[in-house]
Amino acid sequence: MRRALSASLAVTLLLALPAAQTRTSKTLDIYVVDVEGGNATLYVAPSGESVLIDTGNGGAAGPRDPERIMAAAKDAGLTQIDHLINTHWHGDHFGGHEELAKRIPIRDYVDHGPTVEPQPASTAFLDTVYPKLFGASKHTVVKPGDKIAVSGLDWRIVTAGGQAIKTALPGAGAANRYCASFKPKDPDPTENAQSVGSVITFGKFRVVQLGDLTWNKEFDLMCPNNRVGTVDLFIVSHHGLNVSNSEALVHGLHSRVAIMNNGTRKGGFPEVMKTIYSAPGLEDLWQMHFSVLSGQEYTMPGVFIANPVDDQPTTMPIAPVEAPTGRGAAPPPAHNGRAYWIKVSANTDGSFTVTNARNGFSKTYAAGR
Ligand SMILES: [Zn+2]
Repeated sequence: MRRALSASLAVTLLLALPAAQTRTSKTLDIYVVDVEGGNATLYVAPSGESVLIDTGNGGAAGPRDPERIMAAAKDAGLTQIDHLINTHWHGDHFGGHEELAKRIPIRDYVDHGPTVEPQPASTAFLDTVYPKLFGASKHTVVKPGDKIAVSGLDWRIVTAGGQAIKTALPGAGAANRYCASFKPKDPDPTENAQSVGSVITFGKFRVVQLGDLTWNKEFDLMCPNNRVGTVDLFIVSHHGLNVSNSEALVHGLHSRVAIMNNGTRKGGFPEVMKTIYSAPGLEDLWQMHFSVLSGQEYTMPGVFIANPVDDQPTTMPIAPVEAPTGRGAAPPPAHNGRAYWIKVSANTDGSFTVTNARNGFSKTYAAGR
């Protein structure tokens, strides 16, 4: 009798729970998951509502990246992803999508619309797989200025489909002095320039994450007036590649901390590292990996780097390595073993703590911007 009673009580309690799981945490938690030079970043609000930006690689990488995302989702106590933002239709961003959807319910699929750069993998996914997935839940095509409803957060879309917001966000819009030295690059016809970019505000804490948005589009967003404003955290654009990350963006944002989702040989270019190191207001850069393209010359100390490689070399190169390209180029150092995230826990007063899950090293950045 007693058991039956408690069982029915449990059912009642379960039914009374809201759709999003209830958490005791008061922080906005952000997991930058290692997907080997792709992107997967999980945001979990104190309400338990979650937004995942991108799903990492698929294809030959198999379920590796979705499994790594699931580890972060489990750590956060999630039983569903409330919104999945696909920044753009490149395989290092949507590749893990189908496998992830088999592992956890996804309630809202967000993107910039059809691809402008059809490739076999993205076409196959968009024509056959994707409609089945969002058909069972919700599909949202965003444009700059849109909001994504997440309880406790102000989530604004600032770029999408090659366009940027024309009106400054609240508190932003000052002239950006780093526009003066901006030199445009050739127009980018790829999906990168279509990236869905977000600015997330949690009390006084602000983050910007622009996917793989490229150089000239940074100018459109940040010049002549900085419509984003200043931020606490900058998720470095495009893995730290030098076709993104102009001074107009990186210096204009005046972020306190930057986190780079680079791979062992993707991103972390010397000129980008220099731009970040010379950014006004920047206190630390954290990285997913050591990049051989940086060499010791430009890398952060290992304490700020989340992941090793499978066969750790006994020495690290001092000089940056030129990216080998073309047929017969040696593959980058592989990392298919255990992966570690960098986790940010932010408070509404603007203070936040960044933790390297590999070594447990963490650093708290006080409020008071
Ligand atoms: Zn990418």
